[in-house]
Amino acid sequence: MEKIQMKTPLVEMDGDEMTRVLWQKIKDELICPFVDLKTEYYDLGLLHRNETRDQVTVDAALATRKYGVAVKCATITPNAQRMVEYPQLTEMWKSPNGTIRSILDGTVFRAPILLDAIRPVVRTWKKPITIARHAYGDVYKSVSFETDEPGECTMTFRGASGREQTVLVQKTDGPAVFQGEHNKESSIRSFARACFQYAVDTKQDLWFSTKDTIAKVYDGAFKRIFEEEYEKTYRTQFEALGLRYFYTLIDDAVARVIRSEGGFIWACKNYDGDVMSDMVSTAFGSLAMMTSVLVAPDGTTEYEAAHGTVTKHYYRYLKGEQTSTNPMATIFAWTGALRKRGQLDKLPALEAFADRLEQASLDTIRSGVMTGDLAGLVEGDRPTPVTSEAFLKAIRARMEM
Ligand code: NAP
Ligand code: MG
Repeated sequence: MEKIQMKTPLVEMDGDEMTRVLWQKIKDELICPFVDLKTEYYDLGLLHRNETRDQVTVDAALATRKYGVAVKCATITPNAQRMVEYPQLTEMWKSPNGTIRSILDGTVFRAPILLDAIRPVVRTWKKPITIARHAYGDVYKSVSFETDEPGECTMTFRGASGREQTVLVQKTDGPAVFQGEHNKESSIRSFARACFQYAVDTKQDLWFSTKDTIAKVYDGAFKRIFEEEYEKTYRTQFEALGLRYFYTLIDDAVARVIRSEGGFIWACKNYDGDVMSDMVSTAFGSLAMMTSVLVAPDGTTEYEAAHGTVTKHYYRYLKGEQTSTNPMATIFAWTGALRKRGQLDKLPALEAFADRLEQASLDTIRSGVMTGDLAGLVEGDRPTPVTSEAFLKAIRARMEM
């Protein structure tokens, strides 16, 4: 069989632990036998990040901007415990995802992979709900303090021109807590653009929600900026594709989401996205079935699994055990990236390959061959879980049918 030829490389970011093991197996079993894979490879494994003083992460992000498409394996974000586990680490390196996101100025979209056999907790949901979380500012970049006597708190902005604006936050009659938050117009605008862009790319409606009835100025700015971007750049494309941009209050959105069939993108402010993405992914089933896509305002896209490096399985693997780790989200990261590369380079064969690999993976599960996490969620007769190895081999066999 002739392999599909690629024109332009995509950026490949390797990672850590169990997902690094699966990464190689997915390439060997499911991609390289069918595609003459062209990637620019960056090893984001923790030790290589350490050796390069994290320069490799920056280089990978810059390469992503150059080529427009990347696929990333899950990576360890070191914490105090990892510093003990890896004594050679010279610093507690920052989250690679955070570094890449800030270089690309991107927004993260999370969507579940759906299976008929695993019904969402919310019975009306038939299509995926994609959550877009604004990952800058608000309470995540706030300052706060406690006071222990009556008094008054004011907030002052001193402009570069010297002009000042002051507001009274509150006069208090006893001990109190205060918090100052901000967001940047440029960040909100990038977020809005990434959301509209991704809605057009994936042909889904876009919902956006805030609490602008209460936070009239703060959330009002979010609402206004989204409207401006929609009117200025995206309305024509939305109308041509029959898509809808829909703004509503966060509480109304929550009620409508629960009653909906799914099949749309829900753009959320930072805190709402943090909370709602956990709610939505849990209700859809399994973390191992969540995909994650980082989209920059210019359309640059990076695909990955939403889960981490699955450390517990990795320790069992190191002891020589066969694990039943679910590779679906990582496979779908690869198919997402290959499809996007195919679209950008006008290679229908590459796009069709991505569809075929997704279909073969889903059909394998439908036939009753699946990893332990999914076997536990299936309604009715419980299938016997297989190892990751056997699962990948079953998909391969289907690809060759
Ligand atoms: P995790 O790797 O997502 O795993 C948490 C648990 O979820 C696993 O122990 C496993 O449960 C289950 N699970 C997750 N993915 C699975 C899969 N593909 N197949 C089967 N089960 C799966 O989260 P973590 O253990 O909190 O974090 C481990 C490391 O990943 C950390 O160092 C963290 O920094 C990193 N991380 C990276 C990313 C990223 O790069 N995007 C994201 C999150 C975390 P059972 O053990 O019960 O089977
Ligand atoms: Mg959360």
